[in-house]
Amino acid sequence: MKTILIAGGAGFLGSNLCKKLIKDNIVICLDNLITGNMANIIPYLESPNFKFIKHDIINPIDIEIDEIYNLACPASPIHYQKDPIHTLKSSVFGIYNLLELAKKYNAKILQASTSEVYGNPLEHPQKESYFGNVNINGPRSCYDEGKRCAESIMYEYNKQYNTQIRIARIFNTYGKNMQKDDGRVISNFIIQALKNEDITIYGDGLQTRSYCYVDDLIDGLIKLMASNITTPTNLGNPIEYTILKTAKIIISKTNSQSKLIFKNLPIDDPQKRKPDISKAKKELNWEPKISLNEGLDNTISYFKEII
Ligand code: UDP
Repeated sequence: MKTILIAGGAGFLGSNLCKKLIKDNIVICLDNLITGNMANIIPYLESPNFKFIKHDIINPIDIEIDEIYNLACPASPIHYQKDPIHTLKSSVFGIYNLLELAKKYNAKILQASTSEVYGNPLEHPQKESYFGNVNINGPRSCYDEGKRCAESIMYEYNKQYNTQIRIARIFNTYGKNMQKDDGRVISNFIIQALKNEDITIYGDGLQTRSYCYVDDLIDGLIKLMASNITTPTNLGNPIEYTILKTAKIIISKTNSQSKLIFKNLPIDDPQKRKPDISKAKKELNWEPKISLNEGLDNTISYFKEII
Protein backbone atom coordinates (compact mmCIF):
# COMPACT_ATOMS: atom_id res chain seq x y z
CA MET A 1 0.00 0.00 0.00
CA LYS A 2 1.21 3.48 -0.86
CA THR A 3 0.85 6.46 1.47
CA ILE A 4 -0.65 9.31 -0.53
CA LEU A 5 -0.94 12.90 0.63
CA ILE A 6 -3.86 14.84 -0.81
CA ALA A 7 -3.52 18.56 -0.12
CA GLY A 8 -6.93 20.18 -0.41
CA GLY A 9 -8.46 16.77 0.24
CA ALA A 10 -11.69 18.14 1.74
CA GLY A 11 -12.42 20.25 -1.33
CA PHE A 12 -14.42 19.42 -4.43
CA LEU A 13 -11.76 17.57 -6.45
CA GLY A 14 -9.76 16.51 -3.39
CA SER A 15 -12.64 14.68 -1.72
CA ASN A 16 -13.50 12.86 -4.94
CA LEU A 17 -9.86 11.81 -5.21
CA CYS A 18 -9.84 10.63 -1.55
CA LYS A 19 -12.87 8.46 -2.31
CA LYS A 20 -11.12 6.76 -5.20
CA LEU A 21 -7.65 6.34 -3.65
CA ILE A 22 -8.73 5.19 -0.19
CA LYS A 23 -9.72 1.79 -1.63
CA ASP A 24 -6.09 0.68 -2.16
CA ASN A 25 -3.93 3.19 -0.31
CA ILE A 26 -3.34 5.05 2.92
CA VAL A 27 -4.69 8.55 2.31
CA ILE A 28 -3.54 11.54 4.33
CA CYS A 29 -5.86 14.44 3.68
CA LEU A 30 -4.67 17.98 4.42
CA ASP A 31 -7.02 20.94 4.26
CA ASN A 32 -7.22 24.39 5.83
CA LEU A 33 -11.03 24.21 5.42
CA ILE A 34 -11.26 27.69 3.86
CA THR A 35 -13.17 26.38 0.84
CA GLY A 36 -12.92 22.68 1.73
CA ASN A 37 -15.75 21.18 3.75
CA MET A 38 -15.60 18.44 6.41
CA ALA A 39 -18.96 17.16 5.13
CA ASN A 40 -17.15 15.99 1.97
CA ILE A 41 -14.87 13.63 3.92
CA ILE A 42 -17.12 12.50 6.79
CA PRO A 43 -17.69 9.12 5.06
CA TYR A 44 -13.93 8.35 5.28
CA LEU A 45 -13.10 9.54 8.80
CA GLU A 46 -13.78 6.09 10.33
CA SER A 47 -11.60 4.27 7.79
CA PRO A 48 -8.23 2.94 9.03
CA ASN A 49 -6.85 3.99 5.63
CA PHE A 50 -7.71 7.65 6.14
CA LYS A 51 -6.25 10.44 8.22
CA PHE A 52 -7.34 14.09 8.20
CA ILE A 53 -4.97 16.86 9.28
CA LYS A 54 -6.16 20.46 9.40
CA HIS A 55 -3.20 22.25 7.87
CA ASP A 56 -2.51 25.14 5.52
CA ILE A 57 0.22 24.28 2.99
CA ILE A 58 1.56 27.83 3.09
CA ASN A 59 3.34 26.39 6.16
CA PRO A 60 5.81 23.47 5.89
CA ILE A 61 4.80 19.97 6.96
CA ASP A 62 6.79 16.76 7.47
CA ILE A 63 5.05 13.42 6.87
CA GLU A 64 6.57 10.38 5.20
CA ILE A 65 4.66 9.76 1.96
CA ASP A 66 5.05 8.07 -1.45
CA GLU A 67 2.90 10.40 -3.56
CA ILE A 68 1.48 13.91 -3.28
CA TYR A 69 -1.51 15.39 -5.08
CA ASN A 70 -1.72 19.16 -4.62
CA LEU A 71 -5.30 20.37 -5.01
CA ALA A 72 -5.05 22.97 -2.25
CA CYS A 73 -6.22 26.31 -3.63
CA PRO A 74 -9.60 28.02 -3.95
CA ALA A 75 -10.54 27.59 -7.62
CA SER A 76 -13.74 29.56 -8.07
CA PRO A 77 -13.16 33.21 -9.11
CA ILE A 78 -15.31 34.58 -6.25
CA HIS A 79 -13.38 32.53 -3.70
CA TYR A 80 -9.84 33.06 -4.98
CA GLN A 81 -10.49 36.82 -5.27
CA LYS A 82 -11.66 37.12 -1.64
CA ASP A 83 -8.11 37.04 -0.22
CA PRO A 84 -5.79 37.35 -3.23
CA ILE A 85 -2.58 37.42 -1.18
CA HIS A 86 -3.54 34.16 0.48
CA THR A 87 -4.37 32.70 -2.95
CA LEU A 88 -0.86 33.62 -4.14
CA LYS A 89 0.71 32.16 -0.98
CA SER A 90 -1.30 28.93 -1.41
CA SER A 91 -0.02 28.47 -4.95
CA VAL A 92 3.57 29.62 -4.49
CA PHE A 93 4.55 28.84 -0.87
CA GLY A 94 2.22 25.84 -0.99
CA ILE A 95 3.90 24.10 -3.90
CA TYR A 96 7.35 25.01 -2.57
CA ASN A 97 6.58 23.34 0.78
CA LEU A 98 5.15 20.24 -0.90
CA LEU A 99 8.09 19.99 -3.33
CA GLU A 100 10.48 20.08 -0.36
CA LEU A 101 8.50 17.20 1.11
CA ALA A 102 8.60 15.30 -2.21
CA LYS A 103 12.37 15.85 -2.39
CA LYS A 104 12.94 14.66 1.19
CA TYR A 105 11.00 11.39 0.73
CA ASN A 106 11.70 10.91 -2.98
CA ALA A 107 7.94 11.05 -3.63
CA LYS A 108 6.09 11.75 -6.86
CA ILE A 109 4.12 14.99 -6.87
CA LEU A 110 1.19 16.09 -9.00
CA GLN A 111 0.20 19.74 -9.19
CA ALA A 112 -3.36 20.74 -10.06
CA SER A 113 -2.65 23.50 -12.54
CA THR A 114 -5.39 25.10 -14.57
CA SER A 115 -6.66 26.26 -17.93
CA GLU A 116 -6.35 29.75 -16.37
CA VAL A 117 -2.64 29.62 -17.23
CA TYR A 118 -3.86 30.31 -20.81
CA GLY A 119 -5.73 33.44 -19.62
CA ASN A 120 -8.09 34.90 -22.24
CA PRO A 121 -6.68 32.67 -24.98
CA LEU A 122 -5.80 33.86 -28.46
CA GLU A 123 -5.28 30.26 -29.57
CA HIS A 124 -8.30 27.98 -29.76
CA PRO A 125 -8.57 25.19 -28.71
CA GLN A 126 -5.73 25.46 -26.20
CA LYS A 127 -2.75 23.14 -26.62
CA GLU A 128 -0.13 22.65 -23.90
CA SER A 129 2.40 24.47 -26.11
CA TYR A 130 0.40 27.74 -25.94
CA PHE A 131 2.07 30.31 -23.64
CA GLY A 132 -1.20 32.05 -22.77
CA ASN A 133 -2.59 35.58 -22.64
CA VAL A 134 -2.77 36.51 -18.96
CA ASN A 135 -3.25 39.97 -17.44
CA ILE A 136 -0.60 40.31 -14.70
CA ASN A 137 -2.47 43.19 -13.04
CA GLY A 138 -6.08 42.08 -12.97
CA PRO A 139 -8.46 40.46 -10.48
CA ARG A 140 -7.73 36.97 -11.85
CA SER A 141 -3.95 37.33 -11.76
CA CYS A 142 -3.58 36.16 -8.13
CA TYR A 143 -4.85 32.77 -9.30
CA ASP A 144 -3.52 32.72 -12.87
CA GLU A 145 -0.01 33.96 -12.07
CA GLY A 146 0.11 31.96 -8.83
CA LYS A 147 -0.61 28.79 -10.79
CA ARG A 148 1.85 29.76 -13.53
CA CYS A 149 4.56 30.36 -10.92
CA ALA A 150 3.74 26.99 -9.30
CA GLU A 151 4.37 25.32 -12.67
CA SER A 152 7.75 27.10 -12.91
CA ILE A 153 8.71 25.90 -9.43
CA MET A 154 7.71 22.34 -10.37
CA TYR A 155 9.78 22.57 -13.55
CA GLU A 156 12.87 23.79 -11.68
CA TYR A 157 12.65 21.08 -8.99
CA ASN A 158 12.51 18.51 -11.75
CA LYS A 159 15.53 20.06 -13.49
CA GLN A 160 17.68 20.70 -10.43
CA TYR A 161 16.71 17.78 -8.15
CA ASN A 162 15.11 15.33 -10.57
CA THR A 163 11.90 15.45 -8.51
CA GLN A 164 9.25 13.31 -10.19
CA ILE A 165 6.67 15.94 -11.15
CA ARG A 166 3.28 15.73 -12.90
CA ILE A 167 1.35 18.83 -13.99
CA ALA A 168 -2.36 18.58 -14.83
CA ARG A 169 -3.89 21.64 -16.49
CA ILE A 170 -7.46 21.19 -15.38
CA PHE A 171 -10.31 22.73 -17.39
CA ASN A 172 -13.80 23.49 -16.00
CA THR A 173 -14.98 20.53 -13.93
CA TYR A 174 -18.30 19.97 -12.16
CA GLY A 175 -20.07 17.34 -10.10
CA LYS A 176 -20.70 15.92 -6.66
CA ASN A 177 -19.17 17.71 -3.64
CA MET A 178 -19.20 21.19 -5.20
CA GLN A 179 -20.23 23.66 -2.53
CA LYS A 180 -23.60 25.45 -2.63
CA ASP A 181 -21.78 28.78 -2.51
CA ASP A 182 -19.12 27.73 -5.04
CA GLY A 183 -20.12 30.52 -7.41
CA ARG A 184 -19.09 28.78 -10.62
CA VAL A 185 -21.39 28.51 -13.57
CA ILE A 186 -22.74 24.95 -13.34
CA SER A 187 -23.44 25.04 -9.60
CA ASN A 188 -24.94 28.55 -9.77
CA PHE A 189 -27.26 27.66 -12.65
CA ILE A 190 -28.41 24.34 -11.12
CA ILE A 191 -29.18 25.93 -7.76
CA GLN A 192 -30.96 28.91 -9.37
CA ALA A 193 -32.97 26.57 -11.61
CA LEU A 194 -33.97 24.25 -8.76
CA LYS A 195 -35.18 27.26 -6.74
CA ASN A 196 -36.91 28.84 -9.79
CA GLU A 197 -34.76 31.93 -9.24
CA ASP A 198 -33.36 34.11 -12.04
CA ILE A 199 -30.41 32.57 -13.88
CA THR A 200 -27.52 35.05 -13.81
CA ILE A 201 -25.83 35.31 -17.20
CA TYR A 202 -22.67 37.42 -17.03
CA GLY A 203 -22.13 39.47 -20.19
CA ASP A 204 -24.01 38.39 -23.32
CA GLY A 205 -23.61 34.69 -22.53
CA LEU A 206 -21.81 34.04 -25.82
CA GLN A 207 -18.55 33.23 -24.04
CA THR A 208 -17.80 29.49 -24.01
CA ARG A 209 -16.64 26.83 -21.61
CA SER A 210 -16.13 23.05 -21.91
CA TYR A 211 -17.28 21.00 -18.92
CA CYS A 212 -15.72 17.79 -17.60
CA TYR A 213 -17.55 15.55 -15.13
CA VAL A 214 -15.56 15.02 -11.94
CA ASP A 215 -15.25 11.21 -12.22
CA ASP A 216 -13.58 11.55 -15.62
CA LEU A 217 -11.21 14.18 -14.30
CA ILE A 218 -10.22 12.05 -11.28
CA ASP A 219 -9.42 9.12 -13.60
CA GLY A 220 -7.25 11.47 -15.63
CA LEU A 221 -5.34 12.65 -12.56
CA ILE A 222 -4.64 9.08 -11.42
CA LYS A 223 -3.48 8.06 -14.90
CA LEU A 224 -1.24 11.10 -15.12
CA MET A 225 0.33 10.32 -11.74
CA ALA A 226 1.01 6.73 -12.90
CA SER A 227 2.63 7.93 -16.15
CA ASN A 228 6.15 9.27 -16.73
CA ILE A 229 5.00 12.60 -18.17
CA THR A 230 6.79 15.48 -16.46
CA THR A 231 5.48 18.17 -18.84
CA PRO A 232 2.06 19.86 -18.47
CA THR A 233 -0.95 17.87 -19.66
CA ASN A 234 -4.43 19.25 -20.37
CA LEU A 235 -7.30 17.38 -18.71
CA GLY A 236 -10.83 18.42 -19.58
CA ASN A 237 -13.76 17.75 -21.86
CA PRO A 238 -13.34 19.22 -25.35
CA ILE A 239 -17.07 19.71 -26.05
CA GLU A 240 -17.70 23.45 -25.98
CA TYR A 241 -20.91 25.28 -25.00
CA THR A 242 -21.86 28.93 -24.78
CA ILE A 243 -22.99 30.07 -21.34
CA LEU A 244 -26.45 30.78 -22.79
CA LYS A 245 -26.72 27.22 -24.11
CA THR A 246 -25.54 25.91 -20.73
CA ALA A 247 -28.34 27.84 -19.00
CA LYS A 248 -30.95 26.56 -21.45
CA ILE A 249 -29.86 22.92 -21.00
CA ILE A 250 -30.04 23.23 -17.19
CA ILE A 251 -33.46 24.95 -17.25
CA SER A 252 -34.81 22.19 -19.47
CA LYS A 253 -33.31 19.33 -17.40
CA THR A 254 -34.74 20.74 -14.16
CA ASN A 255 -38.14 21.74 -15.66
CA SER A 256 -37.50 25.12 -14.10
CA GLN A 257 -39.56 28.30 -14.34
CA SER A 258 -36.39 30.41 -14.04
CA LYS A 259 -35.84 33.39 -16.38
CA LEU A 260 -32.48 34.56 -17.69
CA ILE A 261 -31.13 37.88 -16.39
CA PHE A 262 -28.01 39.57 -17.71
CA LYS A 263 -25.33 40.98 -15.40
CA ASN A 264 -21.96 42.65 -16.04
CA LEU A 265 -19.22 40.44 -17.39
CA PRO A 266 -16.45 40.16 -14.75
CA ILE A 267 -13.13 41.82 -15.70
CA ASP A 268 -10.80 39.59 -17.77
CA ASP A 269 -13.43 36.82 -18.05
CA PRO A 270 -12.04 34.53 -20.81
CA GLN A 271 -14.16 34.70 -23.98
CA LYS A 272 -13.64 31.07 -24.94
CA ARG A 273 -12.11 27.94 -23.56
CA LYS A 274 -11.75 24.43 -24.90
CA PRO A 275 -8.92 22.00 -24.27
CA ASP A 276 -6.94 20.23 -26.94
CA ILE A 277 -6.61 16.83 -25.23
CA SER A 278 -4.69 14.98 -27.94
CA LYS A 279 -1.69 14.61 -25.62
CA ALA A 280 -3.76 12.97 -22.83
CA LYS A 281 -5.49 10.75 -25.39
CA LYS A 282 -2.24 9.56 -26.93
CA GLU A 283 0.03 9.33 -23.91
CA LEU A 284 -2.44 8.44 -21.13
CA ASN A 285 -5.08 6.69 -23.19
CA TRP A 286 -7.53 9.02 -21.42
CA GLU A 287 -10.54 10.91 -22.61
CA PRO A 288 -13.79 11.86 -20.89
CA LYS A 289 -16.51 9.20 -21.05
CA ILE A 290 -19.40 10.88 -19.22
CA SER A 291 -21.68 13.06 -21.35
CA LEU A 292 -22.90 16.45 -20.15
CA ASN A 293 -26.39 14.94 -20.05
CA GLU A 294 -25.38 12.17 -17.64
CA GLY A 295 -23.04 14.37 -15.59
CA LEU A 296 -25.72 17.02 -15.15
CA ASP A 297 -28.26 14.38 -14.05
CA ASN A 298 -25.86 13.26 -11.29
CA THR A 299 -25.04 16.82 -10.29
CA ILE A 300 -28.68 17.94 -10.23
CA SER A 301 -29.54 14.97 -7.95
CA TYR A 302 -26.65 15.91 -5.66
CA PHE A 303 -27.75 19.55 -5.37
CA LYS A 304 -31.39 18.49 -4.84
CA GLU A 305 -30.21 16.57 -1.78
CA ILE A 306 -28.10 19.34 -0.25
CA ILE A 307 -30.22 22.45 -0.80
N1 UDP B 1 -20.95 32.76 -15.34
C1 UDP B 1 -22.23 33.27 -15.55
N2 UDP B 1 -23.10 33.25 -14.49
C2 UDP B 1 -22.79 32.73 -13.28
C3 UDP B 1 -21.48 32.20 -13.08
C4 UDP B 1 -20.58 32.25 -14.14
O1 UDP B 1 -22.58 33.73 -16.64
O2 UDP B 1 -23.65 32.74 -12.38
C5 UDP B 1 -20.01 32.76 -16.49
C6 UDP B 1 -18.67 33.47 -16.19
O3 UDP B 1 -18.77 34.84 -16.49
C7 UDP B 1 -17.74 32.74 -17.14
C8 UDP B 1 -18.31 31.32 -17.20
O4 UDP B 1 -19.66 31.43 -16.75
O5 UDP B 1 -17.79 33.30 -18.43
C9 UDP B 1 -17.58 30.33 -16.33
O6 UDP B 1 -17.42 30.93 -15.07
P1 UDP B 1 -16.93 30.13 -13.79
O7 UDP B 1 -17.02 31.07 -12.63
O8 UDP B 1 -17.63 28.84 -13.69
O9 UDP B 1 -15.40 29.77 -14.03
P2 UDP B 1 -14.22 30.28 -15.00
O10 UDP B 1 -14.25 29.32 -16.12
O11 UDP B 1 -14.49 31.69 -15.47
O12 UDP B 1 -13.02 30.19 -14.14
